[in-house]
Amino acid sequence: MNVSSCGHLAPAAGARVCAHLTTDNGPGCFRVLTGVATRYDLLCQACADAETPELLEACVGCFERAESVAYLGWRGDPGILRRDRDLGGTWTTTPCAITPLNDRCLAPLPDGWLALTAAGLAGTDGEPRLAGPVDLPPEPPEEWAGHVRGPALYTSGDGRFAAVVTDHGRHGAVVDLGSGVVTLALDRQDYHTETTRFPVAFVNAGTGPLVVTATDWNRLDVFDAATGRLLTDRVTTREENPEHYFDYFFGALLPSPSGRSLLVDGWAWHPVGIPLALDFQAWLAGDRHAPEHGRMLADRGYSWNTPMAWIGEDTVALQGIGDDEPMLEGVELRDAGGDSRLGMFAGPAGPMWGHGGLLYVTAEAGFEVWDPADGARIGFAEGFRPTAHDPATGAFAELRNDQLRIWAPVG
Ligand SMILES: [Zn+2]
Ligand SMILES: [Zn+2]
Repeated sequence: MNVSSCGHLAPAAGARVCAHLTTDNGPGCFRVLTGVATRYDLLCQACADAETPELLEACVGCFERAESVAYLGWRGDPGILRRDRDLGGTWTTTPCAITPLNDRCLAPLPDGWLALTAAGLAGTDGEPRLAGPVDLPPEPPEEWAGHVRGPALYTSGDGRFAAVVTDHGRHGAVVDLGSGVVTLALDRQDYHTETTRFPVAFVNAGTGPLVVTATDWNRLDVFDAATGRLLTDRVTTREENPEHYFDYFFGALLPSPSGRSLLVDGWAWHPVGIPLALDFQAWLAGDRHAPEHGRMLADRGYSWNTPMAWIGEDTVALQGIGDDEPMLEGVELRDAGGDSRLGMFAGPAGPMWGHGGLLYVTAEAGFEVWDPADGARIGFAEGFRPTAHDPATGAFAELRNDQLRIWAPVG
């Protein structure tokens, strides 16, 4: 073991700090990117502003102590790996005079795509699935931290059911697409609904589609999609069941590829964004309070309502690198079974999906494919900005300007 240039006989951190960060109670600091992948040094404000700051090779102790006060944010530029090759796959473009209400109002069906339009639900084959709008209780317009209350659409894997919900709002409905009947009215009550997307997901448990949804700010339940029957009756109030009272605001839900686990994008007071992984299979198998003791994967500061995806069954990708706003554009890979960060890479920014071990991102300039194995971008299609993904086929769809454009990974 050598003496690091910070003056301590301790293992080297492999990164540098400024001289003001080698003592206890040092100042807050910036993470200053070195241009190599997501590597960074830690510099106090004065040194970050200086033209030629003095940097010391830090020991692990100095680096970790300084890291704990690295709340000033990011400076500099990361290194981004790009190895773009041809996307391959198949492209189809067809005329389609259907206008989804927004980018969250297109969803996959086994034989096409379903859109929520001003006239109601419409299939992309041109045959409207339902005449007239899906009626939800009206909610006043609301905007919170840049998130606008508005509709979102989900479909069950077998194409029999759709859920129409109000993101950043209270209400939703599950509709039988065959009959047009509402099989379940969704209501998560009105406590700070503006802070999260509406928590809802379809999961197929073998006996037909199930709906997982919030029935209060801090409670999830499971219903049979066809009958609306509640499958998870239990007591979770602070008064009646303090042991299983859960102080957590549920947000967007994302089932793992097999449906075994659920990833939740939610938060808890101070506020702090806390992605949560739930053992959905155990819940259905009788672990009644599985949602109340999910695994907290990270403490993300003021950051939530951000894109997330599953990479296989055990790893999740969370967009935004860091432990508070402002985050660095990119992805953190995290162990869905614990609280460790498995890796990170800069670059991805925008709606994101996982499929076949890869990450797909609708970025501002177009469609990107990233390989999480080494954090490289391996494909790019300029101008293609899909809003929906079919997990069964791997296809992505963009429906804009009366045109439906689809890319599927295999021909
Ligand atoms: Zn300094
Ligand atoms: Zn040191």
